[in-house]
Amino acid sequence: MSNYIESVLETVKKKNPNEKEFIQAVSEVLETLKPIVERHSEYEATALLERLVEPERIISFRVPWLDDNGKVQVNRGFRVQFNGSIGPYKGGLRFHPSVNQSIMKFLAFEQIFKNSLTGLPIGGGKGGSDFDPKGKSDNEIMRFCQSFMNELQRHIGHDLDVPAGDIGVGGREIGYLFGQYRKIKNAYEAGVLTGKGLEYGGSLARKEATGFGLMYYMREMLKANNIDMKGKVTTISGSGNVAIYAAQKATEMGAKVVAMSDSNGCVWDENGIDLDEVKRLKEVERLRIKEYLKKHPNAKYMENKEGETPAVYTIKADVVLPCATQNDINLKTAELMVKNGVIAVGEGANMPTDIEAINYFLKNNVLLAPAKAANAGGVATSALEMSQNSMRLAWSFEEVDKKLDAIMTNIFKACKETADEYGLGTNYVAGANIAGFKKVANAMMAQGVI
Ligand code: NDP
Repeated sequence: MSNYIESVLETVKKKNPNEKEFIQAVSEVLETLKPIVERHSEYEATALLERLVEPERIISFRVPWLDDNGKVQVNRGFRVQFNGSIGPYKGGLRFHPSVNQSIMKFLAFEQIFKNSLTGLPIGGGKGGSDFDPKGKSDNEIMRFCQSFMNELQRHIGHDLDVPAGDIGVGGREIGYLFGQYRKIKNAYEAGVLTGKGLEYGGSLARKEATGFGLMYYMREMLKANNIDMKGKVTTISGSGNVAIYAAQKATEMGAKVVAMSDSNGCVWDENGIDLDEVKRLKEVERLRIKEYLKKHPNAKYMENKEGETPAVYTIKADVVLPCATQNDINLKTAELMVKNGVIAVGEGANMPTDIEAINYFLKNNVLLAPAKAANAGGVATSALEMSQNSMRLAWSFEEVDKKLDAIMTNIFKACKETADEYGLGTNYVAGANIAGFKKVANAMMAQGVI
C-alpha cells in the first residue's frame, strides 16, 4: 500500500471508530487503488482520497408511527448523500433492524463506484431505517412509509437524489413512499423514486434487473475464462428479490440451482429448486423458506446456527451466488467452499465476502464477480426507469432487458480491461474498483475543491 493510501486509511479508522462496515468497505477499495494512485500525484496534492471518503452529507431523522394497537413506535431514518460528482445521488433504501450509520455509509460508499461503472450519470447515495418490516401488517408498513417520507421528501428530487428499494423495501413500500411524496408535493414527479409499479411510472424488467444482471456479468466473466454456466450446480444465499431472479436467469442459462436460503436456514433440493414455489412463498405469502418442504418433502432443510457457517455455503457447488446480506462469507466459509471445489462466486448482495475471504478466493483461483460490478444491473435499470420517466415513454421488457445485458457486458469489459492494463490477472475486484474510481476521480478533479 502507498504511504498516501495508508495515511488516509488511518484517518478513516480514527475518525469513525465505531463504523466497522464502513471501514471495511473503504479499506477494500483503497487497498486496490495503489496502482492508479501511484500514477497520479495530483490526487494527493488535492486531497482527493480524503474528500472521497467523507460523505457530502448525512441526514439522520426521527420516524414516529402508530402500530395497530395505537402505540407510538419510533425508528431512526437515514439518507447518506455520499458523492454527487457524476450525477444525482442514487441508491436504495434498506429497512432492516441492523441498519445503522456504519451500514448506511458502507452501502453509499460502494454505490459511488457501482454507479460509475454503469456508465450512466448517477452519483452515490443510500438510505433506510432500523425498522423491521417482518411481522408488520400492511397498514403498519404504510404508516411507517408515510412517516419516513414526511422527512425524506425535503432531501430528494429527480435532479437531486433518487432512492429505490433494497433489503425490506420492494414494490409495496415504494408504492406507499411514492404516494406520500406525491401528496406532499402536489405534483407528479415520477422520477423521484425508482422501482415503482408499472401502472405509475415503473419500468419493465426493474424487478428482475439485479438478478438477471448478475447472471449476464457471470456469463461474461466465465466466457472470458472458457467456462459456461450450462450444467453448473449452483447454490444461492437469500430468497429475496436478487436471489429469485438470479435463480431464474441461471436456470435459463442451463445451470442447476439446488439451494436457496433465508436468514433462518436453507432448502436443498437436489432435483433443482422449484422457483415458482419460492416466488409464491416469498413474493406472495411472505413466509419462511422452510415452508418449501410442505410441497417438496424430499428436499432437505438445514437450519443456520449462531456463529457457524450459514448452512447454504456448506453444500457442494460449482457456482455460489451470495444474494442475501453483507459479511456472509468469512475466511472459514471460503476455505470450505474451495475445499468443495467452487469455481466461481458471484456477489449479488453488497459486500457479502469479507476481505480475508476475497483474498483467499483470489489466491485459490476462484473467479470472483465483485458486487460493485456484478450487482449494478439494478441501479442501471433504475437509471433507465428515470430516463423513461423524463421522456414520458415506456420501453418494452425486451428493450430494457437488452439494454441491461449490454450494460453488464460493458461493465465486465471495463473490469477486465482495467485488470489487464494494471497486470492484475483475473482480479476483477481490483479491476472494478479502479475502473469505477477513475471516472469519479476525474469528475472531482475537474470540479475543483468543493
Ligand atoms: P430482499 O429483502 O428482497 O431479500 C433479502 C434476502 O436476504 C432474504 O432472503 C433475507 O432473509 C436474506 N437476509 C437479509 N438479511 C439477512 C441476514 N442478516 N442474514 C441472512 N440472510 C439475510 O433484499 P434484496 O434481494 O433486494 O437484497 C439482497 C442483497 O442484494 C442486499 O445486500 C442488497 O443490498 C443487494 N442489492 C439489492 C439490489 C436490488 O435491486 N434489490 C441492487 C443491488 C444490490 P430474511 O427474509 O430471513 O430476512
